Amino acid sequence: MKDIVSLCKRRGFIFAASEIYGGINGFWDYGPLGVELKNNLRDRWWKDMVITPPIGPDGSPVEIVGVDSAIIQNPKAWVASGHVGGFSDPMQTCRKCKKLLRADHVWDMLKESEWVQSFADAFGASNVNDKLVFKSENAQKWAQTKGKKLAPGLALVRNPSVTLSWLAEDSQGAAQTELTVTQILEYMATEQKAVTGLQTPCPHCGGDLTEPKAFNLMFQTYVGAMQSEDSIAYLRPETAQGIFLNYKNVLDSSRVRVPFGIAQIGKAFRNEVNPRNFIFRSREFEQMELEWFCHKDEAKMWRDFWFAERQRFWKSVGLSSANLQMRDHDSDELSHYAKAGLGTADIEYRFPFTAPGFGELEGIAHRCDFDLTQHQEHSGAKLEYMDPNDNTKRFIPHVIEPAAGLSRGVLALICEAYTVDEKRPSGLYLNFHPSMAPKKAAILPLTAKDEHVPLAQKLYLDIREDFAVDLDIKQNIGKRYARQDEIGTPYCFTIDNDTVNDQTVTVRERNTMAQERIHMDKVKSFLHEKIRGRGV
Ligand code: ATP
Repeated sequence: MKDIVSLCKRRGFIFAASEIYGGINGFWDYGPLGVELKNNLRDRWWKDMVITPPIGPDGSPVEIVGVDSAIIQNPKAWVASGHVGGFSDPMQTCRKCKKLLRADHVWDMLKESEWVQSFADAFGASNVNDKLVFKSENAQKWAQTKGKKLAPGLALVRNPSVTLSWLAEDSQGAAQTELTVTQILEYMATEQKAVTGLQTPCPHCGGDLTEPKAFNLMFQTYVGAMQSEDSIAYLRPETAQGIFLNYKNVLDSSRVRVPFGIAQIGKAFRNEVNPRNFIFRSREFEQMELEWFCHKDEAKMWRDFWFAERQRFWKSVGLSSANLQMRDHDSDELSHYAKAGLGTADIEYRFPFTAPGFGELEGIAHRCDFDLTQHQEHSGAKLEYMDPNDNTKRFIPHVIEPAAGLSRGVLALICEAYTVDEKRPSGLYLNFHPSMAPKKAAILPLTAKDEHVPLAQKLYLDIREDFAVDLDIKQNIGKRYARQDEIGTPYCFTIDNDTVNDQTVTVRERNTMAQERIHMDKVKSFLHEKIRGRGV
């Protein structure tokens, strides 16, 4: 992951926000290529949802319209949605290092933590889910050496004999016990089992964690000149509510009829307690959300439809099936709104920091009629849908919500594309799907000589009307190829002396580095065939 983060900075994809001031945790800026990549993914989602929505089960395209709602809404909307006063993510604090942690992230963080990896290594386990043969001597030795440095708060490090006694007691004094690393960690974090039961250790220092308590992740601000209780407002933590708030406006002002969807792409803000893993979990990020309104009797059909559609989407932008999986939420994971319905499933991607496991890329939830019912009750507005063919039939539509992270999507595209290749000067290339690549082609005059540059400029001016294309004149050709490999440009066209004589150029293909010559007049149609021809 370190290499990916450094490439992103070196080549202008993603920078730490306020970097010259030491950065600000959980905030990132997109550089010249990052913004192109992000826009490509964003535009593709919009096209697939709003401009050319998929064909529905009845053989005709489904109906979806877009909105772009305000980031700050009436605070009452967040009371109705449950974000204020209702649910909020449970948090735990470490009693030793005092760090605050989201309770549902603790075990994921433990799996990534340096001290847990080191502990597992001491028993020869490569994966924290592995079973291992636990020997007290190994644990004691680790506690006195690496453990002291990496996990000073861990009960095993502070009080090894008492801590180890609990496991010995439960395994009835067996010299060796076979358990998973996860199970052992709970014993290693426990000093007073009789009083506290088994404990969960802190991913930072190994200390014991408090019971989970509610915490609100919304950023708060004030609207207007007066800063008082009455002027408190919130930066939206999801784009979804802006859609529900406009549901009636859209119905009244356009010709959509249930079933239909409203799509929105935009910023969301969450005061995440532990922003981490580069842009995977940040405090400001972008979402691409669809709220699909349907009759409750059809909810299952539409959920299945969107499950399939959304997987197809991620594959079509270049994510490989091997790195994608669908995972149904366990019942204790379900959001308040999804409990009564068909549940939630995530599309997960195998990020380098979750491998061999997966991390959420998109959630597809059956939100039932929760949001519209809540807004109807809290606002007094009538949000029932009236069947246009039978006005005695009124109902609050159910909602299927495919909610994807645009920022996480960008990260998945970069991780998928990152390909080490010792054979080439750059040592790596980004294997972006051509439709996602920030630049589709580069025009490279072989030298900065008078004959090559004007021809290159002519070609550049012609192609840029149709494609995002780079004209790169400086440096030797090898370095320029290396740069284009590192930014994932699928095709390079080189202008040389032969071009002056016969108007042909060399095309170099990024992945194979194979070269062929084609006529300058054919470059545009070549790109159309190679790039647009792939269903882009
Ligand atoms: P998580 O469990 O990872 O916090 P979530 O289930 O709360 O995510 P949703 O509310 O379903 O996330 O939001 C939809 C999508 O928004 C997620 O699938 C993810 O891609 C993205 N997302 C959520 N939180 C963040 C964040 N802090 N940083 C970047 N992307 C995020």
